[in-house]
Amino acid sequence: MDPILQPIFDEVLQRNRGESEFHQAVTEVFDSLGPVLAKNPQYADQAIIQRLLEPERQIIFRVPWVDDAGVVQVNRGFRVEYNSALGPYKGGLRFHPSVYIGIIKFLGFEQIFKNALTGLPIGGGKGGSDFNPQGRSDAEVMRFCQSFMTELWRHIGEYTDVPAGDIGVGGREIGYLFGQFKRLTNRYESGVLTGKSLALGGSLVRTEATGYGTVMFAEQMLGTRGESFDGQRVVVSGAGNVSTYAIEKAQALGADVVAFSDSSGYVLDEAGVDLDLLKQVKEVERGRVADYVARRSGAKLQTTGSIWDIPCDVALPCATQNELPEDGAKALIKNGVKAVAEGANMPTTPEATTLFQEAGVLFAPGKAANAGGVATSALEMQQNAQRDTWTFEQTEARLTSVMTSIHDTCAATAEEYGSPGDYVKGANIAGFIKVADAMITMGVV
Ligand code: GLU
Repeated sequence: MDPILQPIFDEVLQRNRGESEFHQAVTEVFDSLGPVLAKNPQYADQAIIQRLLEPERQIIFRVPWVDDAGVVQVNRGFRVEYNSALGPYKGGLRFHPSVYIGIIKFLGFEQIFKNALTGLPIGGGKGGSDFNPQGRSDAEVMRFCQSFMTELWRHIGEYTDVPAGDIGVGGREIGYLFGQFKRLTNRYESGVLTGKSLALGGSLVRTEATGYGTVMFAEQMLGTRGESFDGQRVVVSGAGNVSTYAIEKAQALGADVVAFSDSSGYVLDEAGVDLDLLKQVKEVERGRVADYVARRSGAKLQTTGSIWDIPCDVALPCATQNELPEDGAKALIKNGVKAVAEGANMPTTPEATTLFQEAGVLFAPGKAANAGGVATSALEMQQNAQRDTWTFEQTEARLTSVMTSIHDTCAATAEEYGSPGDYVKGANIAGFIKVADAMITMGVV
């Protein structure tokens, strides 16, 4: 690590104890910043790094609710309003039992740079709860969301902080959250949340955007080596929103997608994933991958081993943080993987990332590759501000141009700073400079 950054990192460890995912996200960015600080001494002089590391505001609150059996449940709610140099805080809400402040801070910190890379006017934030929606009825999810919003509403607004979905939060949850916000504030403020259904002012393409964008980025990356998705064998981890639409776009570009997963195991479907069935099982029935296998002859469910043992040309980790460890990278490299693009946030461990880069595998970090979701959220905010709705084609065209521009910016920045082809450095440096320059312009605030 750069000598200017080492003492700052020691302080991060000291002041944010036990938050291992946050430490990991900071290390990843710091590993890229040495040459930037050497070239731009004003960033160190103005304590930009120290200011960036400290969230502007952190809100932690009690979320009490009553389950269907009449039992009172208590969860913890979070919203970390990390950085608003470029626009209102923007980022999703994650409902998952693993959520604690360290997860929300890692996600919020990455979101700052990701959002900067989109070129759209959005700052970085993240929130969520340790609530586990699995196995909960619609009525329980609704009561939980209403209780969550009963605290959150006072902190958010279209010019302040605009939450959206993440793991465990989709259109259903956003609808309940929006309904409660409207009731509490007596304002039909569409731009306060994104990922809304179309009836509430949502945007076409938002559902598809993260997965589509990840594949668009990977297609650009493959293009630098004269390749494309056409005819490639692809493995996608996860079976949620990001994975589903990554599979859809990869198939549309001619790829042969043979595997997906959830926390119960992975599915190998050599005949090619039946996307209609996957959508029926996961989106409509809220089922598990075993329900797909039960209705699809030839598909196999594996509950031991790793999805990364399946030979493929392109791997798209779209499930969750640290799901692709060193062993997975070794297996993929041994089997000749050409490209890895992160649809999830920080799914590849640092050791695995290094292995891919040393082996010359094209590697796209999540803060660049999965930025299509939040970019389309910013397009939803634009439509809400205009009280307008754009067509699917118009919106997808904007998404395509944002993803192409992120790809080109990362590639050009990596080259400029002496690491051609290193999309990790390119993304970290380009995102950082954008935010740092905006912060300097505003003085010490
Ligand atoms: N949760 C998504 C992300 O990780 C989307 C956030 C948003 O749309 O605001 O970027």
